[in-house]
Amino acid sequence: MSATFRITFLGTSAAIPTPKRNVSSTLIAYQDLKWLIDCGEGTQRQLLYANAGFKNLTRIVLSHEHLDHILGIGGLLATLNMLQPVNRVVVHGSPAVLDRVKQLTGFIGRGLQYDLQFESIDAEEIDIFAHRQLTCQAFPTRHRLHASYGFTFQEKSRRRFLSDVADRLGVPAGPERRRLLAGESIRSTRGTLVHPDDVLGPEEAGKKLVYISDTMYFPELSTFAAGADCLIAEATFLDSEAELAAEAGHMTAKQSATVARDAGVKCLYLNHLSQRYAHAEHLLLEEARRVFPQTYLAYDLATIDV
Ligand SMILES: [Zn+2]
Ligand SMILES: [Zn+2]
Repeated sequence: MSATFRITFLGTSAAIPTPKRNVSSTLIAYQDLKWLIDCGEGTQRQLLYANAGFKNLTRIVLSHEHLDHILGIGGLLATLNMLQPVNRVVVHGSPAVLDRVKQLTGFIGRGLQYDLQFESIDAEEIDIFAHRQLTCQAFPTRHRLHASYGFTFQEKSRRRFLSDVADRLGVPAGPERRRLLAGESIRSTRGTLVHPDDVLGPEEAGKKLVYISDTMYFPELSTFAAGADCLIAEATFLDSEAELAAEAGHMTAKQSATVARDAGVKCLYLNHLSQRYAHAEHLLLEEARRVFPQTYLAYDLATIDV
């Protein structure tokens, strides 16, 4: 099956940038839509390095209000104001994070030339957005704040149109095929009735992508990530620092891998790595792989297709 999501890591460092890793941001592309998860300082430059461009970048989804996840949004929104590649931007986040973003956008001097909208995520409103076959939802994480969120991006299941079968049955090319896809029966060129079930393949599950931003470990994380085709999860510390991780509201590589294993995901990318391991990142990977072998490290500007 072809790729559904194109993920580009723009910033994979925790708290502060390092020479090789910028602070948090991830770009996701799905069909003609692009959105950012978090927007740490310098994200707009990372977008340029990634050759991603600003076109169709109309949503920014924020996990929580810590500065390493949001300080880039003022600059990015100001640049969008100058270049005007889009006429609408929607920022999603908790009331606390939206409050901070509103303060940052207050510095954009000459007024916004596009429609900037704020959509609040809270306990009652976990549906963030929908786009064609895709739904995006938030789930609560535990990060020593009033509210912080992870995200699931779930594509609806679908049945493929079997053109070779349709050709054999004498279904003309054109609107009849759309009607069959929409669930209607049609009459073939031979005068026989053709039903949707005759020309649609078995139901195929849609792709699921799960993103766990800053959080301490708790077992329900694996419920949110259940069956994901790809899990991106923070792994700020090694397990030797498990106590510190819990105190700071973060996970260890082993805990991220435990979530991935318990959730039965297909692959795990470790993200939000502490600069303390800048010269020993392989230790994070090795620790996680002992629990969940299909683990990889996220790298700035790396792109993966899911
Ligand atoms: Zn962080
Ligand atoms: Zn944080």
